[in-house]
Amino acid sequence: MEFKTLYGPVRSGRLGLSLGVDLLGQRICSMDCLYCEIGPTRAHTLKRHPYMPAKVILDELHAWRRQELPRPEHITLGGLGEPCLNSDLPEIIAGCRELFPDIPVAVLTNSTLLHDPAVRRELAAVQVVLPSLDSLVEREFLAVNRPCPGVDLLLITSGLLQLRREYTGLVCLEVLLLQGINDTQENLDLQRQFLTKLQPDRVDVVTMTRPGSSPLAKAVAKETLNSWRRALAPLTPLARMSAKPDRLEKHSTAGIMSADTAMELVLNSLRRRPQTPEQLSAALSVDVMRTKTILDALLREGRITKVRDFGDDFYHAVL
Ligand code: SF4
Repeated sequence: MEFKTLYGPVRSGRLGLSLGVDLLGQRICSMDCLYCEIGPTRAHTLKRHPYMPAKVILDELHAWRRQELPRPEHITLGGLGEPCLNSDLPEIIAGCRELFPDIPVAVLTNSTLLHDPAVRRELAAVQVVLPSLDSLVEREFLAVNRPCPGVDLLLITSGLLQLRREYTGLVCLEVLLLQGINDTQENLDLQRQFLTKLQPDRVDVVTMTRPGSSPLAKAVAKETLNSWRRALAPLTPLARMSAKPDRLEKHSTAGIMSADTAMELVLNSLRRRPQTPEQLSAALSVDVMRTKTILDALLREGRITKVRDFGDDFYHAVL
């Protein structure tokens, strides 16, 4: 069967082996970013609609499941535009959870609909949300992301903060830097202040690795990228581990984390929700064998418990 809404699984920098799901079917987005790798936005809108009906996507996922393909570490909802614009999002998420109960679902978002309580309620059912926030300087935001009318930077930041308050899964923020546009000290200072409040689980500072939709989109120098990563790293526990050089490169943190740090991260993640060793390993980018060793140590110390559910061992933090 030829799939029109599924792609992969492909190896993704933040999610490991990921099965991508396109929720739009066309270039429909609330932004028209200079760096967009899939070309200019055709329908520039904030209007929610079943652009790709849940039935089409779930029928394809059903067929995909029957194939002998590598098991992905995540099912990632994204595609040719902003996935939260699809008003069938709740049915799509519920269908993914039902068809693949042991695979975490992740949603990529440009953050423009997070101020909507209905969208945040829908996202509560997934394990990972990956919002982007490229600049907190209004003129830079307008230049880089070229939002459609109705998108407001203040609404974006308040939506992100509200999501962080309500949501118990992982929030992995991405900041994409373009040379001479949003790589300014002013943006860095504002991002630092904002991240202190937001407390995402992880921050990835990245730049262009492939051509964008505009020739104005140019990669920043490696030194700039590294200095931003160093500046933002202390603000979130997982950001320390996300200094990856390329969006598509798998980053392993196993070698650079102390045993205490790794243990704290695992425990923090389990405080948010029960997980299997594989889910923890994917979420934290820690080798699965090392994750299991940490879980054994935490079990011995009585800081977590293990419960057999859905045919898997789920670990819970003792609160
Ligand atoms: S938000 Fe994402 S899909 Fe939309 S234009 Fe920007 S990069 Fe492309």
